[in-house]
Amino acid sequence: MECIFCKIIDGEIPAVKVLDEDLVLAFMDINPSSQGHLLVVPKQHTENIFEISEGDLAAVTSAVRRCAKAAKEALEAEGVTILQLNGRASDQIVPHLHIHVIPRWENDGLPVSAWEMKPGDMEEIKEIARKVQECLS
Ligand code: 5GP
Ligand code: ZN
Repeated sequence: MECIFCKIIDGEIPAVKVLDEDLVLAFMDINPSSQGHLLVVPKQHTENIFEISEGDLAAVTSAVRRCAKAAKEALEAEGVTILQLNGRASDQIVPHLHIHVIPRWENDGLPVSAWEMKPGDMEEIKEIARKVQECLS
């Protein structure tokens, strides 16, 4: 198994763990984008949001919320960004589902929420919503 996060889960390579449960592990990111940047992963190898089981997703989501609250309290953060990438097109590098928990402070300058806010074409927005709804039903 070449997956780096599976190796962390199996204890083959070290990680600074903050939460270790039956279905979920949370550990500090080695390239922190802010103080307290951590990752929450399912122990069962799953590449992305499309493949994870409902049970693992529920466990991961619960852990994410608890880690976000704990990091916010521990570091007196003013906000927390939750980020999860799926596929190379979305800049996912490690192909084992992980949710980033990134404590934030006013004016910390992190680019994660820095896309330009410009109004969309309402007709196009509605047409895209219709296509998505079709695929939901
Ligand atoms: P993404 O796939 O969402 O783009 O990012 C992968 C994240 O995993 C990065 O933030 C990177 O710093 C982190 N990462 C990659 N390899 C390791 C590792 O071996 N240990 C830890 N703790 N984090 C890692
Ligand atoms: Zn894995």
